[in-house]
Amino acid sequence: MHAADDASFQQQQERLAHEVAQIERIVAAAARGEQDDMDDRSGDLSLPGRLLYELRRREDAGFLFQERLKALNEITIALSRIDTFDSLCWHAVKYGIDQLGFDRLSLWFVNLEQRQMIGSYGVDEGGEVRDERGLRWSYAETYIEDFIDGKTEASLANDDAPIYNNRSEIIGHGWHISAPMLHSERFVGVLTADNYLRKQPMRSYEPELLRLYGITVGHLTELARIREQAFAMRLEQERTRVLRQFIRDVGHDFRTPLSVINTNSFILTRLEDLVRRQSFADEIRGQVRYISRMLDSALEFIALDSDMVLNPTATDLRALLAELIAIHQTQGAAKNLIWTTDYDPSLTVTVDTHFMRRALVCLLENAVQYTPVGGCIRVGSARYSGEIGIRIEDNGIGMAADALDRIFEPMYRVNQARTERRSGLGLSIARRIVEAHGGRIVVRSAPGKGSRFEVILPAQDRG
Ligand code: ADP
Repeated sequence: MHAADDASFQQQQERLAHEVAQIERIVAAAARGEQDDMDDRSGDLSLPGRLLYELRRREDAGFLFQERLKALNEITIALSRIDTFDSLCWHAVKYGIDQLGFDRLSLWFVNLEQRQMIGSYGVDEGGEVRDERGLRWSYAETYIEDFIDGKTEASLANDDAPIYNNRSEIIGHGWHISAPMLHSERFVGVLTADNYLRKQPMRSYEPELLRLYGITVGHLTELARIREQAFAMRLEQERTRVLRQFIRDVGHDFRTPLSVINTNSFILTRLEDLVRRQSFADEIRGQVRYISRMLDSALEFIALDSDMVLNPTATDLRALLAELIAIHQTQGAAKNLIWTTDYDPSLTVTVDTHFMRRALVCLLENAVQYTPVGGCIRVGSARYSGEIGIRIEDNGIGMAADALDRIFEPMYRVNQARTERRSGLGLSIARRIVEAHGGRIVVRSAPGKGSRFEVILPAQDRG
């Protein structure tokens, strides 16, 4: 061996010993969790430099992963407080980008019968949460089939993977992660993430983070879906119960008029006297009218459940009330009632005029019906904070407190004898309509003193 070779060998040995010493220092410092010897050397290509850089990168990633796991825990708590399926999906996307650091995220649910993925919410090309509920795609021969077969790891696509928009057009290239959403062991959908917006490299923990998030979101969305289905079923059972009771009540109400019709028509055939015949025939006609009125109200009441599609328009409240008062003044003319008004002249309400007119007619008819001759009816409107009130007040027979709890039930009448064979459905109809407008009806009443019904609607304008 030459002296020169000797010297260079010596030098190499020394450099190696130096590097080994450095590595030992770095590893020892890393083990102690110290920072001093771990300054950033991303540009340093020597072995210790690269080791240090790698250690640093892993430590950063480890730290960030821990932070993300903490955030995931908080998100799980926040999501578990949301009880509607749609809102849960929207928030899952929003929290995923805001708090878990994903660039873009979207949620897809599987439909095994149709072999399709059904969209829910995602993130648009500007970084905002977007409604993707109308979207669907066939999962045949895609990675989804692996998830259906039980694969629980996330699927990764590298930096050159095509990235699509919501019209299935390629809008760029980048990485892409898909993680299964699971409920217990069952595959219910997929969470996908990409780096379209910020183009950041995939961090080592991101597939695992998305996988964990998929388990959380899959579990919570399925629970919400099961809850919503159970609620819909209970609602359906309740509807059937009400309908059964309703048919029973209507049947009961028809029995008396039908037996009057039956008896009178029998007598009619045996009567010679024309005047008496006329009176029996009139009685039959009256009972038929009552039955057909009852039927109309019953059909209207049932239709409100399924056919009430509102078409709200800005309506001048003063003009609407004036028109309805004029009609009822004429109809109740025989009673010599005194009508007064107390309007806020500027009020406009956004309502479906056809339905709202119907609700107000129910209240006005009752005011006329249950106020004796010479009584007073006062109609007014008022603005409250964020709400508008429409009052119909009478000084008629009034009601006791226990009746007030029941008058909105279908077919309920406070006093069968006094109510002159009316349907008992007016207030149920009025309440359904008002509630469909996001409002409510408030009643105050006292026996012998009168009643005040107030329809309270949300105010649409800012005035
Ligand atoms: P009805 O067809 O019997 O009027 P509603 O549903 O409109 O049915 O009202 C239910 C019951 O509430 C009525 O039968 C009546 O006893 C009571 N009621 C409603 N409005 C008034 C009112 N303005 N004054 C007194 N009682 C009323």
